[in-house]
Amino acid sequence: MRHIAIIGSGPAGYYTAEAAQKQWGDEVRVDVFDMLPVPYGLIRTGVAPDHQSIKGVSKRYESTALSENVSFVGNVKIGRDVTVPELQRLYDAVVLATGAPNDRPLDIPGSDLGNVFGSAAFVGWYNGHPQFAGLDPDLSGRTAGVNGMGNVALDVARILAKTEGEFAGSDIVGHALDALRASNIRRIVVVGRRGPHQIMMTPKELGELGHLARAAPKVDPADLPEEGEDALLEPGLRKSVTHIRSFAAIPESHYADVEVEVEFDFFAAPHRLLGEGNVEAIELERTEVQAGRAIGTGEFYTLPADLVVSCIGYQTSPIPDVPFDERAGKFANDEGRILPGLYCVGWARRGPSGTIGTNRPDGFGVVELISHDIGAGGGKQGREGFDKLAEARGLDVVSFNDWKKIEAQEEARARDGAPREKFVDVGQMIKARGD
Ligand code: NAP
Repeated sequence: MRHIAIIGSGPAGYYTAEAAQKQWGDEVRVDVFDMLPVPYGLIRTGVAPDHQSIKGVSKRYESTALSENVSFVGNVKIGRDVTVPELQRLYDAVVLATGAPNDRPLDIPGSDLGNVFGSAAFVGWYNGHPQFAGLDPDLSGRTAGVNGMGNVALDVARILAKTEGEFAGSDIVGHALDALRASNIRRIVVVGRRGPHQIMMTPKELGELGHLARAAPKVDPADLPEEGEDALLEPGLRKSVTHIRSFAAIPESHYADVEVEVEFDFFAAPHRLLGEGNVEAIELERTEVQAGRAIGTGEFYTLPADLVVSCIGYQTSPIPDVPFDERAGKFANDEGRILPGLYCVGWARRGPSGTIGTNRPDGFGVVELISHDIGAGGGKQGREGFDKLAEARGLDVVSFNDWKKIEAQEEARARDGAPREKFVDVGQMIKARGD
C-alpha cells in the first residue's frame, strides 16, 4: 500500500489525487489536507464569483473526494499544526499543492498607504476568504486604479464595474455585494506597463467587458499598433487584441450614456503612490516597449486614484523545512521533485500561470515521478499515524462529510438565485458542521 499526503485541496491537489487513483487504484490511500475547513482552494476563493461555470469544475473534484481511498483532512495547517518532516515520516510521498496565495509586492514608494491592496487580498475579500473577509476597502471615491493587464486585473475591474443585478446567480459574498451596491467608483483605470500586444488577458474574459450593463471599456486609438502587426501574434492574443481594437472604435458620444468607464492606460509604469493616510493618486511613468521590455521615457504624470488594486501576479508561501526559491517565489524543485518523497505541483511548482486545466497534466506528471521514486511503497503508517498525531495535538480535523454539512448550510442561507452564501469565518464554518 502507498500512502500519499497532498497539501492543498485546490485544482492541483485534486488533479493529483485523481492521477494517483488512476495510477494505483486500490493500492493507494490519499489524504488531501487543507488549512481551511472547506475544500477547493482557488476554485472557491480565487475564481471570480460571477464565473460560476468555471467553479463547476469542483464537481469533478468532488467525485474524486468521495472515493473510498481519498480523504479530505480540513482545518489542518501544515507547518503550524504538523510539520512536513512529520508527514514525510508517515507518508511515502508528500505533495505540496499549496498554490500561490501571496501577492507579488508592488515595490514602489507609497505602497503602504491606506486603500492600496494586492489582488490576493481584494479577490479574497469579495470571494469570502477568511483571511481577507475583513478587508473593508473604501469604495466611496470616484476612481480606482487597477495595476496589471492579466485576467485577474480584468476580474477586479469587472467586479467593480458591475451593477447589483449583474451579480444574480453569482456567489459573491454578502459583505462585498453590500459594499459594491454603495460604491461610488465610476472610473476604473487598468494600468499596463507595456502595450496592447503584450497583454496577458484572454479573449473570452476581455470580451465580457464589452457587455456590461452600466459600464463600457475605453481605449485610446493612439495606443494601438499598426493593424498589420497583429498577424504576427499567436491566435489567442490576436483575438484579445481584436477586442482592444473594438473598444478603441467605440465613439466618444457613447460614453455620455455610460455610468462607469473602464479605461485602459497602456505604456504606463507605476512609479509611486501619493496621498496622506489613504491613497489619492498614482504617479506613472510613460514607457516605450523595446524588444518586448517596458523602458521608462522620463515623462511622469499623475492619475487620481481613491482605491488601488495591484494585480501583478502571485507567490507561493514558504513552508518551514522545505527548500524555497525566493527569486521565483515557489518551491525549489526539479520538474516537481523537491527531493525523493517530497514534491510540488501546480502553481507551487511552476508559478502562477496557465488555466485551471493546466494543473491536470501537472498532477499526472508528479504521480509518474512518485511512482518512479517509491515503487510499491515503504510500509508507512499513513492516515493511521496521522490520526494518532492529530489526537495527541488536539487537532479538530474536518472531514469531507463535515464539509458537505457546511456546504448544505451555505446553500440553505443563499440569497435568492445564488448558489450559496459562504461562511467567511473559520469559527462559523466549524459551527456549521455541527457535532
Ligand atoms: P498575469 O497573467 O501574469 O498578469 C500579470 C500582469 O501584471 C501583467 O500584465 C504584468 O505585466 C503586470 N505586472 C507584473 N509585475 C508588474 C509590476 N511590477 N508593475 C506593473 N505591472 C506588473 O497574472 P494574473 O492576472 O495574476 O493571473 C494569474 C494566472 O491566473 C494567469 O495564468 C491567468 O490567466 C489566470 N487567471 C485566469 C482567469 C480566467 O481564465 N478567467 C481569471 C483569473 C486568473 P508584464 O507582462 O509587463 O510583466
